[in-house]
Amino acid sequence: MALSSQQLTQIQTQGLRWVDEKNLGLTRAGGAGPTDHKAFDFVSQTSMIPVFNEQVKRSPFSAKADANHEQVLIFENEKLIAKAAMPGRPKFYELTTSDGIPYWKIATLHSKDVLATTVLQECVRYRNRDTSCQFCAIEESLKNGKTIAHKTPEQLAEVARAAVELDGVTQMIMTTGTPKTLDRGAAVLVESARAVRALVDIPIQAQCEPPDDDVWFQRLKDAGVDALGMHLEAVSERVRKNIMPGKATVPLSRYMSAFKAAVAVFGRGNVSTYILAGLGDTEGEIIAMSKQLIELGVYPFVVPFVPVAGTPLEHHPMPSAEMLDRLFRELGPALVRAGIQSDSLKAGCAKCGACSSLKSYEQEVAHGPAAVCV
Ligand code: SF4
Repeated sequence: MALSSQQLTQIQTQGLRWVDEKNLGLTRAGGAGPTDHKAFDFVSQTSMIPVFNEQVKRSPFSAKADANHEQVLIFENEKLIAKAAMPGRPKFYELTTSDGIPYWKIATLHSKDVLATTVLQECVRYRNRDTSCQFCAIEESLKNGKTIAHKTPEQLAEVARAAVELDGVTQMIMTTGTPKTLDRGAAVLVESARAVRALVDIPIQAQCEPPDDDVWFQRLKDAGVDALGMHLEAVSERVRKNIMPGKATVPLSRYMSAFKAAVAVFGRGNVSTYILAGLGDTEGEIIAMSKQLIELGVYPFVVPFVPVAGTPLEHHPMPSAEMLDRLFRELGPALVRAGIQSDSLKAGCAKCGACSSLKSYEQEVAHGPAAVCV
């Protein structure tokens, strides 16, 4: 039984309804990553699929545990189309720091083998909900006591070592809320990466807004960062100003100059950006920007927008599967032609690939018609 790239896109854009939520022990995560999703482990790929938001209740796709509670059965209407496993609770979640903080409050497992942390859980843009990114829930998990505001370099290194040794994580992603300083979080990522790499050999992707000075890219690299994400989220000034007025004060021209300077330091493909399809940018705008980025050597990680409960965009519609399918059919081959495929990257969301089916379209071009084995 195989799930095609197109089916995966449909499931990621419409979500999965749980037939029996309680039995599967589902709770939402909150925070800055894929917060209303759960990881599903298909044999050839792990995918983050929305399960919690209101719109998912209208999805034709549903899921329930099999009789032995060993696998998840996935249905389109009444027809069984796939089977998947759900990655178990990582062993490092059982540990606490010497000062009593559970490791899972410092970093969490994403997909099945990625350690992800938000180093600063507070963001200068978030203070005022009128100017914050309207899709973001970064401080909600802090209010809910699910994380701590500032993860120290020592804490991050301790958790990273345990996650590598106990759970075999293969890469670490460090994102951050944006502080008041002009480096926009780069400085805190430098000290964090340095401490982690001193203790454990693991590829790291750092994620921040473009800092004021390009010198930070070399500092990040020297500290042990292998790849950098600077996330546009929206590609047109129209949508940027509407959806993320605070972040839009850093102009697109600065993003483009920062991408260019960062590629010179990290290499082609090891600089990437998240683009949330469904916020209001047209298909043409997303394609044009993505192709410009690929030309620069930047991986445009196009991801379907998924509304998060409690944010101003919680009722904003998810994008259509048809639109994403058309985007990916164009971008998959463009990435392969440029030689910056997910699998060849050192670290980062584009390497993980769980939040978007773009990776399976790339593989379709590289290895023939795709099938996410299930
Ligand atoms: S793509 Fe990024 S945000 Fe999504 S699961 Fe992977 S590491 Fe996390």
